[in-house]
Amino acid sequence: MIQIKTAEEIELMRESALIVSKTLGEVAKAIKPGISTLELDKIAEEHIRDHGAIPGFLGLYDFPNTLCMSPNEQIVHGIPNKEPLQEGDIISVDCGALKNGFYGDHAYTFEVGEVPDDTKKLLQITKESLYIGIREFRAGNRVGDVGFAIQQYTEKHGYGVVRELVGHGLGREMHEDPEMPNYGRRGRGKKFKEGMVVAIEPMINLGTHRINQLKDGWTILTADRKPSAHFEHDVAIVNGKPELLSTFQYIYNALGITSNEEDEFRAKPLVAS
Ligand code: MG
Ligand code: MG
Repeated sequence: MIQIKTAEEIELMRESALIVSKTLGEVAKAIKPGISTLELDKIAEEHIRDHGAIPGFLGLYDFPNTLCMSPNEQIVHGIPNKEPLQEGDIISVDCGALKNGFYGDHAYTFEVGEVPDDTKKLLQITKESLYIGIREFRAGNRVGDVGFAIQQYTEKHGYGVVRELVGHGLGREMHEDPEMPNYGRRGRGKKFKEGMVVAIEPMINLGTHRINQLKDGWTILTADRKPSAHFEHDVAIVNGKPELLSTFQYIYNALGITSNEEDEFRAKPLVAS
């Protein structure tokens, strides 16, 4: 059943989402060749706890860490380890936090040093597809409209849209109804209503959409071992329109990037400090 949130609950969710946003900003500052994903995991856990929240993934379905860290051909659910990141890697960082009984959950794929041009383009197109999907998350539209928009935009570039893993409703549970696939048919699926909150999260592969899973029981990777990208935002329907609860602004501040990509999804400007 879809849990509709009150305006007060959406404000609490914004708080949880912003803790995740700031945590990803801290991770962004630390990412460089030589650092391990386990070191980054420690930075994230400390930052979340310092802000009076609890890591959202740690212990959830028995996941062992704060961050899902998925380099290169790994799509999602990678487990942090002591391997140092290398120049030219990409690393998908997915983070969750629980505060006041509500979850935040979003993700960003980072470049480590200089990455190959085709990988850079995969990241750019995947992030663009996230906003193209978010634009369809409005009252009266349906689940299929978001999936269709993301699929059309990414497949046009020859990329593979992961089928087995999807976005989701978000709230007092990390995964609520509805499921939000990154593929679909226009006008199909559950209808969006005022007060819905979801995590939209395209997982897009440079090559085939097919996946494998490692024997660790967690890590999902591309069947052809080509790179995969993952970007995720938390979005509410307010006044019928999509409003971002999460932000990449802390990441951009850390990386020296200027962007107005989030402006259309915000009722008032965000001042990231
Ligand atoms: Mg996530
Ligand atoms: Mg998610």
